[in-house]
Amino acid sequence: MSEGWSATVLTLFPEMFPGPLGVSLAGRALEAGTWALEAVDIRSFATDRHRSVDDTPAGGGPGMVMRADVVAAAVDKVHPEGDRRPLIYLSPRGAPLTQKRVRELAAGPGVVLLCGRFEGLDQRVIEGRQMEEISLGDFVLSGGEPAALALLDAVIRLLPGVMGKEVSGEDESFEGGLLEYPHYTRPQNFEGREIPPVLVSGDHAKVKAWRRERAEETTRQRRPDLWEKFLRKRP
Ligand code: SAH
Repeated sequence: MSEGWSATVLTLFPEMFPGPLGVSLAGRALEAGTWALEAVDIRSFATDRHRSVDDTPAGGGPGMVMRADVVAAAVDKVHPEGDRRPLIYLSPRGAPLTQKRVRELAAGPGVVLLCGRFEGLDQRVIEGRQMEEISLGDFVLSGGEPAALALLDAVIRLLPGVMGKEVSGEDESFEGGLLEYPHYTRPQNFEGREIPPVLVSGDHAKVKAWRRERAEETTRQRRPDLWEKFLRKRP
């Protein structure tokens, strides 16, 4: 990765970036040039006198729809032919984001993210530019920006050198198809609750087995969907 991982975000609110990604781990990595960020104002691609980016929905109904022509002009500017970065539209109608996709994105050259506003984009530009649609979850945000920030946060922490050895990837939630085991640290006694004795026993094999058990139990109880998948994948 000689050129570094680069993100371009298309948004009506470029001032929201880097926002929380300008501090802590991501912020330091941004300063160090481990990744680069460019926020581009979609409105600068409006062509009419009023610089409008949206219009009323065909077929009627509430809200406004982002115009295909304006969005296409913005996309074509920042994602020219030959740009190997995936073009992603953050949308509640997209495929739910997974750690697997996050890892793939971290291993690639970067990403171009399109943030919707209002009721979303005219369907024809989604199809015409063959956008990948990704959702943050089954809820509705007022805009794609918080979703873009979350996606970038998840990817950036995996970039080489950003977190050091802390992200082995082996133990973390979702990596092995399970949620993670619970964590403890000093003090030994907190309001009458002790750290589980096995964790202070010094027996590494027992610690490992205990963590594995707790990960399985937590996944089974909290996420039957993940648990089913995990059982099916087990050799
Ligand atoms: N009318 C749309 C919601 C539009 S919300 C619908 O019902 O499907 C406005 C914008 O917020 C969307 O264009 C999208 O970019 C963003 N957004 C909202 N919820 C999101 C989610 N769960 N994941 C990713 N982006 C989301």
